[in-house]
Amino acid sequence: MTEDVRLHHRSCPFCEAACGIRVQADHGSRTILGVRGDPEDPFSRSFICPKSYGLTQLHSDPDRLRRPVRRRGKDWEEMGWDEAMDEAADRLGTLLKTHGPNSIAYYLGNPSGHKAPFLLYGPLLIRALQTNQFYTPGTLDQIPKYVSASYMFGGPTIQPLADLDRTSYLIVIGNNPVVSQGSMMVAPGMKRRLEDIRKRGGRVVVIDPRRTETAQIADEYIAVRPGTDAYLLFAMVDVLARE
Ligand code: SF4
Repeated sequence: MTEDVRLHHRSCPFCEAACGIRVQADHGSRTILGVRGDPEDPFSRSFICPKSYGLTQLHSDPDRLRRPVRRRGKDWEEMGWDEAMDEAADRLGTLLKTHGPNSIAYYLGNPSGHKAPFLLYGPLLIRALQTNQFYTPGTLDQIPKYVSASYMFGGPTIQPLADLDRTSYLIVIGNNPVVSQGSMMVAPGMKRRLEDIRKRGGRVVVIDPRRTETAQIADEYIAVRPGTDAYLLFAMVDVLARE
């Protein structure tokens, strides 16, 4: 490292796994020289996926937005931050007065959902808007899970998560955590964690129509026919009830 070239310890901003990364940056030329997994991160233990390696290209991408822009017909024009904030406040105020709070919807996803600025200030903005129009990627693919968690545990975000580092028998149904890094389980380095279950003498079973990357390292793979998973689950419930 030199005076200009410095190493920064950060979290990858792309998903909730929040892997620890080491970013080597040249402050003279304002360029990123490289991104690596951080072996000192107690959670991800040097693991990162290809998305994080791509941070270097993303940072220097000429199409990356560096300033607010405003649409003018078919073109876009740059504007200052103060002007952009004033314009957003004006337009939101007009919408609220004219059409009421639910004329405004907000969409929350990665990476804002796990960034300190949003966690600190987002709720204030949402409370001020008083809208109940709230959307996330989960609106598309996890609503049954949120609804069932609300009935069973009292809230959509109260989710039971597998205790991967202590479990001795993991059944993975219709999920591919080796690629997703566990998504809501928030478990970077999933391949290592699954291998650790087996090293402890445990078993990993995958139930999926497709022989996924997770199925390939499982002890047992059960290929259900698409559309028959409800029958399988009812059969399992039946055995549990009987035995
Ligand atoms: S799994 Fe990949 S995208 Fe998600 S935080 Fe880790 S490195 Fe980033």
